[in-house]
Amino acid sequence: MTTYEAFYRQSVDQPDAFWAEQAKLIDWQTPPTRMCDNDHPPFTRWFGGGRTNLCHNAVDRHLKDRGQQPALIHVSTETGAEETYTFAQLHEQVQLAAAMLRGLGVGKGDRVLIYMPMIPQAVFAMLACARIGAIHSVVFGGFASVSLASRIEDAAPRLIVSADAGSRGGKVVAYKPLLDEAIYLSAHKPEAVLMVDRRMAPLDPAPGRDWDWDALALRHQGEVVPCEWLDSNDISYTMYTSGTTGQPKGVQRDVGGYAVALAASMKHIMQGEAGGTYFCTSDIGWVVGHSYIVYGPLIAGMATILYEGLPIRPDAGVWWSLVEKFKVSAMFSAPTAVRVLKKHDQALMKKYDLSSLKALYLAGEPLDAPTARWISDALGVPIIDNYWQTETGWPILTIANGVERKASKFGSPGVPMYGWKVKIVHETTGQELTEPNQKGVVMIDLPTPPGFMQTIWRDDARFVKTYWESIPGKTAYSTFDWGIRDADGYYYILGRTDDVINVAGHRLGTREIEESISSHAGVAEVAVVGVADTLKGQVAMAFVVPRHAADVADDAGQFKLEGEIMKAVDSQLGAVARPSRVRFVTALPKTRSGKLLRRAIQAVCEGRDPGDLTTIEDPTALQQIKELLAG
Ligand code: ATP
Ligand code: MG
Repeated sequence: MTTYEAFYRQSVDQPDAFWAEQAKLIDWQTPPTRMCDNDHPPFTRWFGGGRTNLCHNAVDRHLKDRGQQPALIHVSTETGAEETYTFAQLHEQVQLAAAMLRGLGVGKGDRVLIYMPMIPQAVFAMLACARIGAIHSVVFGGFASVSLASRIEDAAPRLIVSADAGSRGGKVVAYKPLLDEAIYLSAHKPEAVLMVDRRMAPLDPAPGRDWDWDALALRHQGEVVPCEWLDSNDISYTMYTSGTTGQPKGVQRDVGGYAVALAASMKHIMQGEAGGTYFCTSDIGWVVGHSYIVYGPLIAGMATILYEGLPIRPDAGVWWSLVEKFKVSAMFSAPTAVRVLKKHDQALMKKYDLSSLKALYLAGEPLDAPTARWISDALGVPIIDNYWQTETGWPILTIANGVERKASKFGSPGVPMYGWKVKIVHETTGQELTEPNQKGVVMIDLPTPPGFMQTIWRDDARFVKTYWESIPGKTAYSTFDWGIRDADGYYYILGRTDDVINVAGHRLGTREIEESISSHAGVAEVAVVGVADTLKGQVAMAFVVPRHAADVADDAGQFKLEGEIMKAVDSQLGAVARPSRVRFVTALPKTRSGKLLRRAIQAVCEGRDPGDLTTIEDPTALQQIKELLAG
């Protein structure tokens, strides 16, 4: 039995040998001749000379042993739909989609923009692109026209695949008008648009441009479309970061490196076993959805659940009913979803048989200890925090229980994953901080492992400048997140480098203050921002969603909870970290991927324009803050 320590050491000391071994986890038409190519830093290339295909690895190679086993399970609590595709049926549907794409003129290297709800055709379209070597660019379904238009312009797709509508909380969101408007706004026009008609909203097809999925499928029935063997370093897809800190970046990914990285992470991190069922609650519009709804589980030969709906409809037990029904062995979600569940009764989850479940993986945002404890109590399985970015494609920090069982520490995502040379660096001097518990920027040294982004789509210069030149004279990748490493080698993420406030000369991470506030049992969610102050430079301002609105004030109408929260911060961090005010709201402004938009809250607090809000989930949350401040 290898220890994780030895496994990790080999990955960084002998990357060629290590990854040659991992490369065996996938099928190659031609095996690679060169593992790591770091000749042109910071552009690391993997598996040179190798030829493979993501769709082959996700679908075709399973036909022999598990053709009749479930591959894609679609559940919509919005429409009531529930259908299962075996690997054989998935193979058939993907070929059909690939035939349609080819019929519409799409070939290798062409871009296909996918703007779809969580329906099977979205997965068919992604895999069809991978099959024929087209580059997919999935945009979160329901994004506003302006954000969609900028992505159409950047990706310059030959084809757009979409649907008439999505649905959220029972409310139909018509996509077609948003799409038509976006195409109108974009300087680039696609040649064709392929529409799935769910019969939920009017379609109004543009003659000569728009095609109906079902009608076109009839014409291509039974066509055989073999997998196109691609160079390992060909492009598989592009996708945009969440845009939490500003303008989203178009992350570009390869074929072979990504396939190997996912196959390895399914084995070593996710403990995925062929024949099992994986349930990732994210959306195909995010990297988590690409890696752990679509490609990862399928490459591992698992069934994957594609879920359209909220975690709390018809009630907060719905996810756990699916775990019971489909014998889910591993689940992946986000802290923001757990915080939503936390407002409901734990009994709703406990009434289901969750004995198939081995672990719950959470990523996307800091996982505060109280939330981790709450869900851990409710489920009775390990809660595995994992830290990564759209850029990295798979976790940088977590626990690799598939290699060696290790205890998690609440509040820490874990230790560096194999292949990632993670370090903590002093923000200005660029010195590596080697002693435990020193706070610095989390950075990564070359070579980057398989699965990491190749570049920013069509902009190598922006890639280098954005990520690799934050410390003058040194080439290292910056995550733009603060972190520390404890004496046991566990890392803690302390927020983003732009989320630091300076109170009377003391530098404080907003994340640390948030962690302290969320330790109060009455707090469901919290956001802390630094607000300009003439006396102190900046002061901290806290916005809290209380667990029970009735707790906020006492009988005399005094802000009891505010006082208690301030006391908690005083005792845990010291008076200097105490927020100048704690304000109570019913919701916090977040991106569509569930990340707090601190930059927008801060702008509103300082009376500035919050800037680009096209990726915001619920604009009324920001409006509420505006009104609070005005009142
Ligand atoms: P943009 O880069 O466009 O501002 P973004 O950083 O929100 O958007 P993502 O790539 O979706 O886009 O998010 C990655 C970031 O999410 C990380 O850099 C980190 O700040 C945060 N994050 C992800 N997982 C964790 C985790 N487990 N713990 C703490 N923070 C996390
Ligand atoms: Mg980012």
